Amino acid sequence: MGLTGGIGAGKSTVAKTFIERGAYHVDADRIAREVVEPGTPGLAQLAEAFGPEIIGVDGALDRPALAARAFVDDESRKLLNSITHPLIGARTKELTDAAPADAIILHDVPLLVEGHMAPFYHLVAVVHADADVRLDRLVNLRGMDADDARSRIAAQATDEQRRAVADLWFDNSGTPDQLAAQAVAAWEERLIPLRDNVAAGTAAPLPTDVRDYDPEWALVGQRVVGRIWALLGANASAVTHVGPTAVVGQAAEPVVDIEATVADLAVADSVSDALAGGGFPRVASSDVERLHVSADPGRAVRVHVRPSAH
Ligand code: ADP
Repeated sequence: MGLTGGIGAGKSTVAKTFIERGAYHVDADRIAREVVEPGTPGLAQLAEAFGPEIIGVDGALDRPALAARAFVDDESRKLLNSITHPLIGARTKELTDAAPADAIILHDVPLLVEGHMAPFYHLVAVVHADADVRLDRLVNLRGMDADDARSRIAAQATDEQRRAVADLWFDNSGTPDQLAAQAVAAWEERLIPLRDNVAAGTAAPLPTDVRDYDPEWALVGQRVVGRIWALLGANASAVTHVGPTAVVGQAAEPVVDIEATVADLAVADSVSDALAGGGFPRVASSDVERLHVSADPGRAVRVHVRPSAH
C-alpha cells in the first residue's frame, strides 16, 4: 500500500497504527537520508556534482549548503534528482523485495501523487487535513517556520489531485484517536481481506443490487485503468472503463467494468498471474475473454481481458 498526504496531514500517525498491526514499513524519508549518509557513494556523487562544501566538518551532508546550490534553478534540481532518485529507487526495491510473502507492505511516500506512483500500489491511502489545519499543526506542534510551511504546502499536489488517487481516504480534522480508528478499520476491513484474497487467488464478492448513478464510479474507473496499465504494460493495447457504470447518470449495479485489449487469448493467459498478484484474480474463462475480479472487498471491479477484433 502507498500512504501519502500533504505535509502535516498526519501520515506518521497513520503509519504508526499500521506498523503496530504488523505492516512491513518501507520508509521513504529514511531511505532518502540513508542513501546520502557519511561514506556512501551517494554522498560522494553529490560532492562531485555540487562541490565539497556540501559535506560538513563531521563528514555528513550539510543540507542547507546543498539546498543553496541545488535549488537555484531547474538544471541543478534535475542534477540533484538524477543522483538521488535512482539510489532511492534501488534501495526501495531492495527493501520491498526482502519483505515476507504474506507481508502488507507500507510505503510512506510524501510525493506519491506528484510522482504519479499511484498505479504501482494495490491500494493508495491518503491522509487529509485542510491546509489551514496543517499549517497550524506544523507551526505550533512541529515548530516549523510559518512561511516555510506555507510554501511547502503550496508546492505540493492539491486536495483534489490526492482525492482522485485515494482508495482509502482518512479524514484527520478530528483527534489523533479518531484518525487511528479509521486506519484500524481500513486495516481490518480492506487490507487484511485483500492480502488474504490475493494469497488465496480468490475474488471479493460483487454487489448485485442496482443503485443510482455515483460519480465515484468514474474515479474508480480511472484509478483501475491506471492500475491495469501498470500490471499489463505493453501486453495491452487499450484499457478502458466500459459497461453500465461508465454511462454518466445511469443507475447500475455498482460494479466497475474495465476492458483490457490484448492481442489474443494466449496473451490473456500469459498476464493472468500478473493480474492475480496485482489484486485481480481470474474467475472465469470463455471463448471471448478471461474474466478477472478485484480481490479488494472495498472495490467492486471486473476486468475483461479480451483479444482485439482482427
Ligand atoms: P505528516 O507525517 O503527514 O507530515 P504528522 O503525522 O507528523 O504529519 O502530523 C503533523 C503534526 O500534527 C504532528 O506534530 C502531529 O503530532 C500533529 N497531529 C497529527 N494529527 C493530529 C490531530 N488529529 N490533532 C492534533 N495534532 C495532530
